[in-house]
Amino acid sequence: MREGAPRRAKSGGTAKMTDFVPKRGGVYFFAFLPGQIYSFEVIFMEKLGLNQLREMYLSYFESKGHLRLPSFPLIPQNDKSLLLIGAGMAPLKPYFADKTLAPRTRVTTCQKCIRTPDIERVGKTARHGTYFEMLGNFSFGDYFKTEAIHYAWEFLTDVLKIPENLLWPSVYEKDDEAFRIWHEEIGLPEERITRLGKDDNFWEIGAGPCGPCSEIYFDRGPARGCGKPDCRPGCDCDRYIEIWNIVFSQFNNDGNGNYTPLPQQNIDTGMGLERLACVMQDVENLFEVDTVRRIMGHISRIAGIAYGENEKADISLRVVTDHIRSTTFLVCDGVLPSNEGRGYVLRRLLRRAARHGRLLGITDNFLCDVVDTVVEENAVAYPELVTKKDYIKRVIRMEEERFRATIDAGLSILDSLTADLAKKGETTLSGAETFKLYDTYGFPIDLTEEILAEKGLSVDRAGFDELMAAQRERARTARTSAGDFAWADAENPFAQSPATEFVGYDENESRSEVLMMTVAGEPQSTAEAGDEVVVLLDRTPFYGEGGGQVGDTGILTGDNGLAVRVSDTKKRDGRYLHVGRIVSGRLAIGDKVDARIDLLRRAAIMRAHSATHLLQRALREVVGDHVAQAGSFVEPDRLRFDFTHFEALTPDEIERVEHAVNEAILKAMPVSKTEMPIEEAKKLGATALFGEKYGSVVRVVDMGDGYSRELCGGTHLNNTSEAGLFKILSEASVAAGVRRIEAVTGMGLLSLLKEKNDLIAETAGILRTSPAELAGKAKAVAGELKETQRKLQSLEEKLSAEKAEKLYETASDVGGVRLIAARVESAGTDALRAMGDSIRDAHPDAAALLASVAGGKVVIAAVCGKDALAKGAHAGNLVKKIASMVGGGGGGRPDSATAGGRDPGKLDEALAAAPDVLKGMLK
Ligand SMILES: [Zn+2]
Ligand SMILES: [Zn+2]
Repeated sequence: MREGAPRRAKSGGTAKMTDFVPKRGGVYFFAFLPGQIYSFEVIFMEKLGLNQLREMYLSYFESKGHLRLPSFPLIPQNDKSLLLIGAGMAPLKPYFADKTLAPRTRVTTCQKCIRTPDIERVGKTARHGTYFEMLGNFSFGDYFKTEAIHYAWEFLTDVLKIPENLLWPSVYEKDDEAFRIWHEEIGLPEERITRLGKDDNFWEIGAGPCGPCSEIYFDRGPARGCGKPDCRPGCDCDRYIEIWNIVFSQFNNDGNGNYTPLPQQNIDTGMGLERLACVMQDVENLFEVDTVRRIMGHISRIAGIAYGENEKADISLRVVTDHIRSTTFLVCDGVLPSNEGRGYVLRRLLRRAARHGRLLGITDNFLCDVVDTVVEENAVAYPELVTKKDYIKRVIRMEEERFRATIDAGLSILDSLTADLAKKGETTLSGAETFKLYDTYGFPIDLTEEILAEKGLSVDRAGFDELMAAQRERARTARTSAGDFAWADAENPFAQSPATEFVGYDENESRSEVLMMTVAGEPQSTAEAGDEVVVLLDRTPFYGEGGGQVGDTGILTGDNGLAVRVSDTKKRDGRYLHVGRIVSGRLAIGDKVDARIDLLRRAAIMRAHSATHLLQRALREVVGDHVAQAGSFVEPDRLRFDFTHFEALTPDEIERVEHAVNEAILKAMPVSKTEMPIEEAKKLGATALFGEKYGSVVRVVDMGDGYSRELCGGTHLNNTSEAGLFKILSEASVAAGVRRIEAVTGMGLLSLLKEKNDLIAETAGILRTSPAELAGKAKAVAGELKETQRKLQSLEEKLSAEKAEKLYETASDVGGVRLIAARVESAGTDALRAMGDSIRDAHPDAAALLASVAGGKVVIAAVCGKDALAKGAHAGNLVKKIASMVGGGGGGRPDSATAGGRDPGKLDEALAAAPDVLKGMLK
């Protein structure tokens, strides 16, 4: 018998279990039922630590041909159906359907798990926790019931030396085979094997592999039991606790309760590591397990409150203990606090823990300190905790700090709100108040709900959800219009990150560390090829858009083929945000990358920026000292400069400004940049932007030793000659008293020249001449055109007169007046009138009514000659009558009038009525 192995001893007495547990030195007392005196065997089992138990389990199954795999991350990989891993088999799902996918048909793991449906009960009972580890041995189409049961029994009785009489298996009521194995092969009497129904012994979670199971219960002794004669595994009391569940995974549930046999028979076992440790260490619950107890001890020390003295404080101690375990592992696996999904789970846990820290009287940040103990206690199995410790602490400290800034104000507001409710006799907090607590004070809705529930109050959840949806919509719209950088304060993922060191004045590349990033707007710790990312670096050569200068573009490269194409750089509160897309590889927070700007583009930007300074100087020289900068925008080889001035520049002024700038360029003046106290800069006469805020130390950009001296944070040339040439494109007004000049520099001029040359060549081609003869040719063409137009006009007049003559020939006699009432195809009002005039002038006895249809409308012109007028004819009245018949109106002088109508279908009828109308007006 090795040291510490189980022995049996006799003992007895009257005592409560709890009197002995904490001070226990190896003797286990089981308590006594009231009024009864019993004597019990007291069992010695070796006190095995949690880390020790994990290792014993994994190496036992390794010795049985299992492949030991490290725990999978808490974030499900390639499985969108789960938020977090909550069971040992979850990451192995695909192997249950197809063993050829598995690295081996026998696998053993200890899997980190997080379950969150009962968060608000964690702490209030000692039974609930969000974080636990699950031991498992798995067979994918390899061994089945027999071996699985034998292994379990051997491990418990032989390796852990648990006395056989304390172990009670159960089987699914219809599983005779499992019953037979326990009875005949293991040799347990029939009464020790319990048959249980589907609720207890058929294992499934939603869709996926499932099947009957066999559980192993541990008998904690009658002291924890209900005392009923039929107390057995499956009883509601605490005597028999389930420690191992062997699932004979042989069916697939399609999610709708339809079971089909899997192509292979599998074994999926699960044993809660903490629960096993409870049994082996003979403690009541997970908070008393060795490693967990030491974490709680750390919190107790900070709070100055021991566990077990005050039930209220115990609740808070348990909450913080559980939540700091789960959050340490969540952050380690790459989850970052946010308002959605996994990030929200993390935020909620951290803020709930922070609040309970407050309830314990802790006023400083403390959660990040407790991380030290969590890491220490788990380092053996999870070495990544050690390497990522600083990062984990930073993330947790940042979130804690954010909440700490508002928690006291939020809690006191919540107190007065609940007092108000009590006064009014109401029990529900409005959605608006709940939203304010969330939006202004960072209280996750679930935390507010929980705090209220402690006082028997509730929250108008629907009202809150509505306001939440409205805010999301506003944020979405704001983001689209502000290029994704208009976060509400509570949501800015970069708000707590350190600032970036800008090295881009002197360097074009740097070795940098990724401090934080978002993928599609949400904070993430890793990103893959194809992801749209915003990356914050600790140092960067990329200029962030500001002071009128556009942001740099370029590339971030790293190990394993990482390439991020940066399409823009923004600056927010000293943090440089690289906006781009991952072209290849994978990016993670903490990665080192090589950041390189697009050099040619940057050079072009600097040409334009330095030229802008020269332009301002030239404008003062040419236009006057009142010129002040009212805005500017600098792009590669292109600039826009707004300035105060009350009239347009004359062509002569524009030419002189252009000339002055180019002269300054060609003088090849050195450009220096110096940081100095603002007072000194003012003494030097440096030009500052009106209304702009400057720090106490400013950067002065000096060209030609005082020729131009401006306060400016932009990137500049070393010598004005590098600008190449400068050309003004336009000068115009943008607002009252503000003019705008647009200009190009450097290669921009070359493009401009090419554009103009191409235009000339194209025009010459169209005119069939050479560029040199273009002006002469254009003059000749214009002359030809004028002559042609003149000829055309006289021809048209002649044609119209001929047409009018033809129409007169169709006239009918109405009381001595020659009446023409006719349609004229495709003629507008002007053409009709011209035709009518020529009839009237040639024939004094004529009265003409000329109509045409254009665009679905009728136009009519009427004329009356001198003789017709004398007889009583009146063009205005005539056209008025006729127009009224085609749904319109009009009128005019007796000798000439026009009208319109909307009903072309009635035109013929109206024209036919003309003789009668005319007859009615004759004397
Ligand atoms: Zn019972
Ligand atoms: Zn500038």
